Amino acid sequence: MAEILVLAEHSGETVKKVTCELLTIARGFGEPAAVWVGPGAEAGRERLAEFGAVKVYVADGDDLDDYVVAPKAEVLAALMAAKSPAAVLVAATPEGKEIAGRLAVKTGSGVITDAVGLAPGADGPVAEQSIFGGAIIVQSRVTTGTPIVAVRPNSAPAEPAPAAAELEQFAVEVSDAAKTAHITERVVQERGERPELTEAAIVVSGGRGVGGAENFALIEKLADSVGAAVGASRAATDAGWYPHQFQVGQTGKTVSPQLYLAVGISGAIQHRAGMQTSKTIMVINKDPEAPIFELADFGVVGDLFTVAPQLTEEIEKRAGS
Ligand SMILES: Cc1cc2nc3c(=O)[nH]c(=O)nc-3n(C[C@H](O)[C@H](O)[C@H](O)COP(=O)(O)OP(=O)(O)OC[C@H]3O[C@@H](n4cnc5c(N)ncnc54)[C@H](O)[C@@H]3O)c2cc1C
Repeated sequence: MAEILVLAEHSGETVKKVTCELLTIARGFGEPAAVWVGPGAEAGRERLAEFGAVKVYVADGDDLDDYVVAPKAEVLAALMAAKSPAAVLVAATPEGKEIAGRLAVKTGSGVITDAVGLAPGADGPVAEQSIFGGAIIVQSRVTTGTPIVAVRPNSAPAEPAPAAAELEQFAVEVSDAAKTAHITERVVQERGERPELTEAAIVVSGGRGVGGAENFALIEKLADSVGAAVGASRAATDAGWYPHQFQVGQTGKTVSPQLYLAVGISGAIQHRAGMQTSKTIMVINKDPEAPIFELADFGVVGDLFTVAPQLTEEIEKRAGS
């Protein structure tokens, strides 16, 4: 069976959930082989094995770890030349998409980014993409070279299927051109208990309707009652009510959770672009004409200051009972 290369997203030792999702998707097309760039492969191996990586190609060394994305594209290009995989999957994160683009140029292959699904086809994998700000769904297939597909987090559930995850060292001589952007410092961001925004199964987002930074406590409380990540519209982040890193939308993060709860958000096209592929969308908004209701699977027309606390209270009551 042909190999499918899956670039592992990791934090040195912890494998990100999206990689487990990609391994699950890859099993539908061939034999998943993870690609681990940087140190920590031994620590990550168990999780890669759990989700079906038959092999783990390990490219380690200062040349790889101290520079931004370009060396990763070179590693993947060298692996493509050596192993002739049937496809290469990366996470559709900003870094993953840049790697995918560089890899496509290096190998003369077609690339698809922001796939929200991937299914086998007679002539290779067929990707589903959500385009024009999420207004249209298209099916796409790479027709030149080896398909390189960047898949959005949460596009498929991660399903365990144990495999060997045999480690294989893969040495790559990184070019000088790939070393022009050097990492000078790494600062580990303080993280609370909440899940990472783009990986969370549930996201609760607040918008201008929340009315102020202090009121975001309401959104956080609701999010915490269901183990969700907190997001925000640009109106809220631009006003300084919530940090920009939590902005959802065209110029913020793209999320595709099982459940997206929009609170006091009108549903501008730029916001939709970042959340429209969520599996279920719930809305709390006092304006029944708000465009966000067009997307909603469930909606409450009401004042968020009344509805959100009641919802939190009810969830906490049920969780406690
Ligand atoms: C180039 C460009 C890029 C952009 N990128 C992004 C992006 O990435 N993400 C993004 O979000 N936006 C983005 N925007 C901005 C976007 O166009 C909207 O301005 C923004 O999304 C509006 O945010 P909002 O829905 O929170 O605010 P509003 O549109 O003001 O909506 C607030 C909503 O809250 C409701 N409300 C008010 N009070 C209450 C209450 N007490 N209870 C219940 N409901 C209440 C109102 O009925 C209203 O529907 C971008 C714009 C441009 C031009």
